[in-house]
Amino acid sequence: MNNACPLCETDSKEAFSRIDQRYLICPKCDLTFVNRNDVLVPAQEQLRYELHDNSIRSKGYLNFLYRLINPINNFVKDKTKNGLDFGSGPYPMLIELLNEEGFKNIKGFDPFFQNNLAVWNENYDFITCCEVLEHVNELKKTFENLLGHLNSGGFLIVSSGIAPEKSKDRENWHYILDPTHISLFSEITIGWMAKKYDLTFEFLEKDLFIFWKK
Ligand SMILES: [Zn+2]
Repeated sequence: MNNACPLCETDSKEAFSRIDQRYLICPKCDLTFVNRNDVLVPAQEQLRYELHDNSIRSKGYLNFLYRLINPINNFVKDKTKNGLDFGSGPYPMLIELLNEEGFKNIKGFDPFFQNNLAVWNENYDFITCCEVLEHVNELKKTFENLLGHLNSGGFLIVSSGIAPEKSKDRENWHYILDPTHISLFSEITIGWMAKKYDLTFEFLEKDLFIFWKK
């Protein structure tokens, strides 16, 4: 069985099980991840995502998205800069809102709903990952691909639940109840990623952080 961490490839041990998924914790980067033999098949995964109706402008959802849009407005004064929303979901609401904020060059990519491979022909000044990276299976490859398409001085802004510090608290963490949440970061993981890839990082909120490419 392959117990390699999907982020740093270190052999990891099973820490706990919930329902029918086994979870491992990486001793090196502290990523919590679902045993890749236990993840949903893509068709089941897509069905779950289709349940997320992100076309409705509820106040709560807009507030949630503005947690990313406000810092982008602060950091990016030139509205012609290139942006990419990675994992844009069934409806590209974040892109729509960024367009309303005046950003003119925002593209979206989603392997299930907007598999537009042409987005990888260019580089970006900023990339958004709003509740996306925790769903990613090939995390190392995906993260390196995103960094590879980020311009120098650009940033990757990520919203994702941050795992409790203690492994026993992760077992009871509500965030893992979603079976599509298979790659879970802790604060240690974020620090490890920044060091490994020579990025600066900053937590804007507990579950919202930015990596800056030097
Ligand atoms: Zn690891």
